[in-house]
Amino acid sequence: MRKEIQLSAPNLNIDIVDNLKDCIETGWVSTGGRFITEFEKKIADYVNTQDAVSTQSGTAALHLALKVLGVSQEDEVIVPALTFIAAINPVRYMGASPIFMDCDESICLDTDKLERFCREECYMEKGELHNRKTNKRIPVLIVVHIFGNMANMEKIMEIAKDYHIKVVEDATEALGSYINTGRFSGRFAGTIGDIGAYSFNANKIITTGGGGMMVSHNREYLNEARYLSLTAKNDSLFFVHDEVGYNYRMLNIQAALGVSQIDELEKFIEVKIRNYNEYKELLSNINGITLLPFVNGTRTNHWFYSLYINQQKICGSRDELMYHLIKEGIQCRPVWKLIHTQKPYLSYQSYEIEKAYDYENNILNLPCSSNLTHEDIEYVCNKIIEKIRV
Ligand SMILES: *Cc1c(COP(=O)(O)O)cnc(C)c1O
Repeated sequence: MRKEIQLSAPNLNIDIVDNLKDCIETGWVSTGGRFITEFEKKIADYVNTQDAVSTQSGTAALHLALKVLGVSQEDEVIVPALTFIAAINPVRYMGASPIFMDCDESICLDTDKLERFCREECYMEKGELHNRKTNKRIPVLIVVHIFGNMANMEKIMEIAKDYHIKVVEDATEALGSYINTGRFSGRFAGTIGDIGAYSFNANKIITTGGGGMMVSHNREYLNEARYLSLTAKNDSLFFVHDEVGYNYRMLNIQAALGVSQIDELEKFIEVKIRNYNEYKELLSNINGITLLPFVNGTRTNHWFYSLYINQQKICGSRDELMYHLIKEGIQCRPVWKLIHTQKPYLSYQSYEIEKAYDYENNILNLPCSSNLTHEDIEYVCNKIIEKIRV
């Protein structure tokens, strides 16, 4: 029996155990230790921010972002409908309400609809954006850079400026992606808006098992986030706390993996681009399927590959193909179920969602690990082609 080809497997060099050994020998296994500060510095240097604040997950980084931006229970936050639910849950942790938006061809936020929503469905009062329907304040927008693609940040930052909204970039899937044309040329995903979040979960492009990072160009946001992530402790001897904090700081044993993984990121991206191109070549000219492109004007990290399936043109359906591949030992899955159709979010507002349904119904995500072999890719493509050929 062939070994299962995983969707997005971690790629950890065994030499990493030296760092773990260091943690164990020195006793620094928890939320303090030299690897944490070293990893924070390495991430900040890589994406060109002054500093970075480590967390135990990407979700925690997003939660801290909304917290330091002062989102309240009375507020609404604009979010995408097509994304992983962890991008939205922090809105509810703050007691605020999400407003769901559609996506465009990039699978990220549709900026035309975003602009139209702000212009037609909202009004400004005392310099703040308010929703006509609810009269609630909309202080923040969360944009997600889906699968390593980047949303149209030039347009988003213009809208944010016009309507006085702060921008949180969920760059959990897009570490290493950066813009290389226009006003933000050279800027990494996560460093264009007010606050950015990364994740080092096992399926992400680099991993610390679990973990996250918050970045910003605003020193106050970073200081406040770091303080909150360490239980808001003002005095470490007398345990004085001036706020309700969280236990969100990354562990030294997580960071011990991170300091080594970040050095491999550029190599992983190179491999992912090569693998993507190989898939593309093998699947070109096959009727009814298209490997979705990554956006132009951006060096994307090519984290996740999406096969778009025109189900009228193939033998069988997307789901039949998916179950067939799973049976053949190939892990694959449809894109996420849209968040505004999930039980905890049914009662919240959504705005003209169309394209997201198309992607929900017709995308299949293919194995994209940075340790895929040439043979793996050929095997996957052959299994796809033999199943769908009419
Ligand atoms: C992975 C992911 C997160 C959450 O990251 P964790 O580290 O797993 O908490 C948030 N948003 C998106 C879009 C993600 O893919």
